[in-house]
Parts: sequence; C-alpha cells; structure tokens
Amino acid sequence: MGDLTGKTALVTGASRGIGRAVAQRLAADGALTAVHYGVNEAAANDTVAAIEKAGGRAFPIRAELGVDGDVDTLFAGLGEGLSGQPLDILVNNAAGPPAGPIEETTPEGFDRLFAVNVKAPFFIIQRALPLMRDGGRVITVSSTSTRVATPFQTSYAMTKGAVETMGFTLANALGERGITVNTVMPGATLTDLNAALFEDLGVEEFISGLTALNRVGLPADIADAVAFLASDDGRWVTGHVLDVSGGMYLG
Ligand code: NDP
Repeated sequence: MGDLTGKTALVTGASRGIGRAVAQRLAADGALTAVHYGVNEAAANDTVAAIEKAGGRAFPIRAELGVDGDVDTLFAGLGEGLSGQPLDILVNNAAGPPAGPIEETTPEGFDRLFAVNVKAPFFIIQRALPLMRDGGRVITVSSTSTRVATPFQTSYAMTKGAVETMGFTLANALGERGITVNTVMPGATLTDLNAALFEDLGVEEFISGLTALNRVGLPADIADAVAFLASDDGRWVTGHVLDVSGGMYLG
C-alpha cells in the first residue's frame, strides 16, 4: 500500500468506471484528489462522497474535454480546489469510446476522438508541469487495442498508440525533474464504456476466455496498478507501458 499522505492528485474522468476506482484508491492512500468529469455531476459527487465516507479528501471539477478552453476550465477548478498546493500525481484517464469501423468513421468524429483522447492529455500535462513538484507522477490510460487488432476500434486504437508514444518520449524529457511518466494498458474492463456489449449473452464468458486469468477486468484491478506507479515503490519505473489486462490474447 503506497503512502500518499500530504500529496495531491488529479484524475480525469473520475466520475465513473476506471477513473472513479483510481480516484478512490489514490485518496485511500492519502492524496487530496481532484475528481474531474465532463457532464455527469451526480456521478462525480458520488465519487467524492464515497472517498469522504472512507476518510479521504476529494473535490469535483467539471470540464468537458475536446472543446475550446477545456484545459483552462480544468485548471481553474484545480487551482481553486488545491488552494495553492502543488500537484504530485496526474492521471489522464478520460477518453471517448471506439468510433466504429473505418466505413462509419466521419472526419468530425475522428477529430473529436483525437481532441479528447490525445490533444487533451497532452495539453493537460503541459499545463500541469509548472504546478508539479519534482518527483511527480504522470500516468496515462491506454488500451490493449494497441496490440490486439480489432477492426471496429481503429481510430480509437490510433489515439491510444499516440498516448503510449507520448509517455515514452516525455519520460525522457521529464526525468531530470524526477518525474516519472508511464502508461497503463487495461484490457476489457467492466464499466459503462462497454456495458452494452456485456449485456449480450455470452460476451463476458467469451472475453474471459481470451484472458490468461480467465475473467474480465474490474476497475479496481486497474486502479491498483496505477497506485503502484503513483507510489514511491514505482520510483524507478518510467517510460513504461504496463499491461493490466489479466493476460488478454497472450496467444
Ligand atoms: P467510462 O465511460 O466508464 O467513463 C469515462 C469517464 O471519462 C467519465 O468520468 C466521463 O465523464 C469522462 N469523460 C469521457 N469523455 C469526456 C470528455 N469529453 N470530457 C470530460 N470527461 C469525459 O470509461 P472507462 O472507465 O471504461 O475508461 C477509462 C479509461 O480506460 C479510458 O481511457 C478508456 O479508453 C480506457 N480503457 C477502458 C477499457 C474498458 O474496457 N472499459 C479497456 C481499455 C482501456 P462523465 O461521467 O461526466 O461523462
């Protein structure tokens, strides 16, 4: 268990799913945690309430990503919530879902996906760096779609490939400050993102059978890996893409 007492964290897309589990875990480890969301205020408030009930500290920030001024809105909320404290941990988790096969992908949909999944994390990191203490942590959420070819996920997989490259190159740039930059790669995880898929009979069993550990992922499985990278135990890991998929499609 990492000790993040006295530290601060920003988790994007923390109202639901994996981001909520990450926010809950970092807050349980002691970090004052900013719970970012796009539109679902009730869900963000539920995340904050769950953290506080467990004895942690958190505050919500509303900022729709992928629109003009998104990063300004996010950091205005962060500045208010942190009241002058520096930032220690940034988790870029929010992302838009797969946009379907190439035949169904529009230029507008493609641009939107890249704006939310690639441009927003990049410029959130840029804006976070001056607020970040040396020894900080940058963690971005990718997907096994970068190593398993799934036709309906091409543009989504392209966005995730971009953030993996971003993590690798930024790690080298930020090492001087002792800031580690890593990427986690979940496989199929039970969240709202794919709830409809899992409603179909047999899908969960089928996907479970594709993993070495024979089940689908839960948000807490990903959160625990993020917590390791965020902790002092993860201090010598940087520029890495960590597969957190229970061994999805190992062959
Ligand atoms: P969910 O759909 O369950 O939650 C998405 C979160 O991101 C919500 O908090 C949502 O806010 C926020 N969000 C989405 N779009 C925007 C936007 N444009 N602006 C601001 N906030 C936004 O997603 P998951 O928990 O499933 O996914 C989290 C991460 O994990 C993503 O990066 C995803 O690509 C990745 N991943 C997920 C997998 C899975 O099987 N679930 C597999 C591999 C990777 P709000 O509640 O306000 O809508």
